Amino acid sequence: MTLSDLQIQGQRALVRVDFNVPLDSAHHITDDTRIRRAIPTIQALLDGGASVVLMSHLGRPKGPDAGLSLKHLVGRISELLGTDVAFASDCVGDAALDVTQQLKPGEVALLENLRFHPEEKAGDEFFAGQLAENGDVYVNDAFGTAHRAHASTAVIAKFFPEDKAFGLLMHNEIEALNKVLATPAKPLLAIIGGAKVSSKLTILENLVDRVDRLIVGGGMAYTFVKAQGGAIGTSLVEDDMLDKAKRILEKAQAAGTELLLPQDTLCADDFSAEANTAIHPTHAIPDDWMGLDIGPKTRKAFVQTVLESRTILWNGPMGVFEMDVFAGGTNDVAEALAKVTAEHDAFTLIGGGDSVAAIHKAGLASAVSYVSTGGGAMLEVLEGKVLPGIAAIQD
Ligand code: AMP
Repeated sequence: MTLSDLQIQGQRALVRVDFNVPLDSAHHITDDTRIRRAIPTIQALLDGGASVVLMSHLGRPKGPDAGLSLKHLVGRISELLGTDVAFASDCVGDAALDVTQQLKPGEVALLENLRFHPEEKAGDEFFAGQLAENGDVYVNDAFGTAHRAHASTAVIAKFFPEDKAFGLLMHNEIEALNKVLATPAKPLLAIIGGAKVSSKLTILENLVDRVDRLIVGGGMAYTFVKAQGGAIGTSLVEDDMLDKAKRILEKAQAAGTELLLPQDTLCADDFSAEANTAIHPTHAIPDDWMGLDIGPKTRKAFVQTVLESRTILWNGPMGVFEMDVFAGGTNDVAEALAKVTAEHDAFTLIGGGDSVAAIHKAGLASAVSYVSTGGGAMLEVLEGKVLPGIAAIQD
């Protein structure tokens, strides 16, 4: 169900993209990554003789909101494509149809913000049908919103029973996840970090018996260490997750999964870049000290584990990487991922807001196999959920 399965010559391709880009107060785009990632799909459709109608949401408007108009994006899209982009001041009705019905092969139009209509998020079927009038074939390339059952991401697909497909970005995201979840080269390692067990609990539960090795780092590791009876000082902890952490440790043991926790920790006497620091065993952190990064022994051990693995999924930093003094563990992991990709042809997938930020900060985003564009969507796949946006195309 990729673009090559569609008859597109002379057709209007209605493409759901994720153009939810950040704008500054003057409505200038501050990061156009999401637009750039959709260009190959748009270009492929144009090259195949289609015209293209783009639709997206932007921000969280409660109704029409000039500050969140997609017209602010027209110039940048046009520049990246090297062609004019017509703008329709609404995504449904005459304002949209007057533009989309005039399109000739090779031409591009952009519809106004889908979320100016509450029916979009409500998944309203009538509204989805109105949107569908703007195209002859439907392409979903918005992985970032594929976990939402909205009108433009899921419901609309039923109006194109034979003429729907994933765009190239969406296809690549699904392939990357399949390489980890369905057909991994072994050993398979998942590295899960970040602040809280509670936000990654379902992922940990879903992955613990699928992977060969599971590294738990970052703030969430201290809840595991406390569950094992360790002293963790004033480190981040979720006392209501202690039983759940124990259950994951037991599940790992039962499944024969090697679960690695930090053996030593870089501690600080304050949550600050200027704090005094000291290395302590993670199970014996003194009172009044908090763990803010993995320690030197752990860094070596985690790097070694990465280098021995052939498929690696990474979500969540190993420490408070926003402060350089506590970024060492996260950077080591990023570098090890780049190394194992280059030297051992391993498949390395990075997903979820903070690890994506960390790999960019380390300047290594192009040195790993795939960096996911969909934070929440990717996390839901890792939780074992079927995403509505994917199911709607596959149905
Ligand atoms: P998440 O959004 O759950 O992936 O968590 C990312 C956040 O976890 C980042 O802002 C990190 O600074 C934070 N974090 C990582 N390790 C620690 C730690 N040891 N103590 C407190 N916060 C941490």
